[in-house]
Parts: sequence; structure tokens; C-alpha cells
Amino acid sequence: MNRIRSVDALEVLDSRGYPTVEAVVTLEYGAEGRAIVPSGASTGSKEAHELRDGGTRYGGRGVRHAVSNIRGAIGSVLTGEVFVGQAALDERLIALDGTAQKSKLGANAILAVSMAFARASAMATRQPLYEHLAPGSHLLPVPCLNVINGGAHADSSLDFQEFKILPHGAASFAESIEMGEGVFHALKRRLKEGGYSTSVGDEGGFAPQLRSHEEAVEMILDAIVLAGYRPGDQVSLGLDPAVSAYWQGDDTYVFPRARETIRSEELIAMWERWLTDYPIKLLEDPMGEDDWDGWAELTRRVGHRVELVGDDIFCTNPALVEAGIERRVANAVLIKPNQIGTVTETFACAGLATSADYQVYVSHRSGETEDTFIADLAVALGGGHLKTGAGCRGERTAKFNRLLRIERELGNRARFAGVDAFAVRTAREVL
Ligand code: PGA
Ligand code: ZN
Repeated sequence: MNRIRSVDALEVLDSRGYPTVEAVVTLEYGAEGRAIVPSGASTGSKEAHELRDGGTRYGGRGVRHAVSNIRGAIGSVLTGEVFVGQAALDERLIALDGTAQKSKLGANAILAVSMAFARASAMATRQPLYEHLAPGSHLLPVPCLNVINGGAHADSSLDFQEFKILPHGAASFAESIEMGEGVFHALKRRLKEGGYSTSVGDEGGFAPQLRSHEEAVEMILDAIVLAGYRPGDQVSLGLDPAVSAYWQGDDTYVFPRARETIRSEELIAMWERWLTDYPIKLLEDPMGEDDWDGWAELTRRVGHRVELVGDDIFCTNPALVEAGIERRVANAVLIKPNQIGTVTETFACAGLATSADYQVYVSHRSGETEDTFIADLAVALGGGHLKTGAGCRGERTAKFNRLLRIERELGNRARFAGVDAFAVRTAREVL
């Protein structure tokens, strides 16, 4: 029985050295679930509320209030209660908070408890987390490695935030991550050879002072070949320029590092050119969250041939995804549990996307921890691809290592998504 015996919390640290929330939920017969929430830097404006203390501790980023909300308001309501299923618990948490953005108790407090309960429930039935979340799930994702970092994640010369490699031409997750690491290490050699820095940004990708975005793409293509793979055929490119940060309104984007001002229409034309020039299979946030018209136009023009992922524009929020489906904006949804604040709403958002033939793409945050929940979530949702950093930094490789264990545990039931993960399901006629 899932009667909750106790709920506890602690302020712990994320990969940037800032505080974040850990929750521990213990059930009646001793099953214990522990979870830590991550934190973003280039956040969508409509994300659920991350409760920070303000003041002087940790530059105002302390989470003692969120922690005491778990120990107090949340704990006192949940303790002794029986919840049949995740949805029952999450509904109670949502009602207890009572605000649209979870700003009263904090989405960081609520999500930590929601995830910890999922883990405890899995443990109570002696199931792996992915199996508990979605019985029978067995699809291992293509790891989309963010190998060059810019924007809000690094002091590189690049305005675009993420240059990713997609090692899809593999037979298994293990082979795919081996290919990805091969390219990552080849890129390090290539950058060194070109006289560039090989220090890394927040997500473990390199953060060099390159001359242009095009040069970053060329470096990565060189690295793919250097590692012995065929670009586009075995390893493709993905980008998250995260351009919401550069939107100025009035159809205009300003890129400060490149010292460039361009119109929405010019940005769309640039993407069309890049899709012709480079083996790109995925564009995330290619248009800003407030540029719905630009988003719709880009989708109309290229949405039948490349995965267009909405991150900032959707914020893992079913209502925003619904609006996107209606306006034919994007053809894929980025899934970040802390943008919405409960496990149940995360699943609802992914379900809505799938029912409209939008792809589902699970993601970490730039501020991560050793918690590997999203690795299990990626398998449970079956979207076939996951972004969780580059080839280094423990908080990123922890997810890869969890997926290696899941693949082994599934044995011959495991399937690797491969290139199908990026197969656009939107027909040209509907755009
Ligand atoms: P964030 O960035 O975690 O800093 O928000 C990730 C992203 O934009 O996809
Ligand atoms: Zn993004």
C-alpha cells in the first residue's frame, strides 16, 4: 500500500554550485524515493515558478523556503495518506499550491516530491523506474550531445547556445554513446589543432572563441569525419540557438556577440539555407518564444522535413502545446519536468504532443545534478531521443551511465531508436 510514512527535504547543490531541492518520500513498508530537481539558465518566461529565497545567501538563490514548504505544508498533508497512483498524489500537490505557476509552494518543491514519490512507488513494487512509469517501455533514446556551448551557457564567442551531434547510426545506445564520445574527443583534437580553447561550458560542451556560427558547424563536421563517421548518414547535427533571448519585438533579433541585427524573415531564410548546406535533423527554439508568427512561418516552410522543437515557446505546458498544435507551430515538444512541476503533467504534455503527431524530446537543464530521473523518463515516454549534455561532466554522464544500465537490464527486449527518432511525422499538406 502506498501510504506515506514521511516526507523530508534538504537544500543540496547543483552543477553550478547553486542550491537546489532534494526530497525524500518514505512509504509504509520502508520503500524510499529520493529526487533532486535541476535548474535552467535560459528559461522560458512561462515556466512554473522556481522558488528562491532572495536575500544574500548564495546570491539570493537559496531554497530554504522551498525545503521548509516540503517539510511543513506538503509533509503534514501527505503524511499518513494513501495515494493510488502518481496522478492522485500530483493532483493533491497542485490543489495544495492552488496557483497557476506553482508559485506558492514552489515548483521546485512540488516536483521534488512528485519525483521522489514516483521513485518510492517503483521501489515498493520492485520495478525499475522506467517500467513503473510506463509498463513495457523498452526504447532507448539517441543521446543528442551538446558539444559546443554558447549563449547563456558559456563565455564563448557564440550567440547560439547549443551545437549538438546526433549519433543515430548505431545498433544500440551503447554503440551510439561510443560514437558520440568519439566525435566529442575528435572535436577536442580539432579545436586544439586550430589553436582554440578546449575548456567547457555549463553542459560539458566546448566553449571556444570561434569566428562564426558557421565555423562551429564546420569544426563539428570535421570532427565527425575525423572520428571515422559519415555526417548525415551516421551522425547528424542538431541546434538549439535559443533565440528567445535575442528577440527585441518588432520582428527583430539582435545578436550581441556577432553584433548583428536581423529581421525574423531573414532568420527564417538563414535556417532554410543551413538546412540545405548542412546535415541538420533537429532545430530547437530556432525562433523566439514571442515570435509566434515567425515560428508558424518557419514551420510552414520546413516543418515537413526537419524536426522543429519548441522549448521556450511551450515550456512543457499542455495549454501552450495545445495552442501550438492549433496554430501549426513546431512539430516536436521539448520535455523538461521542472518547466511544469509534476510528473503527471509532464506525461500529459508528452501525451498531447504524441496525439498530434508531434515528437517528444526529453531534456536536462543547464544546472543539473547526479539525479538520473530523466534517463528513465526518456525510456518511459519512448520519444527516441534525449539531450543531457556533452561527453563529459559527471552530472551529464550520470544519465548516459543510467541508460547503459537500463539497456543491459532490458537485454534482448531493448530497442534503440536510431534515425527514426528524427523522422518528422507532419505531412507537407497539413502545413
Ligand atoms: P536551460 O537551457 O536549462 O539553461 O534553460 C536548456 C535549453 O535551453 O534547452
Ligand atoms: Zn532549449
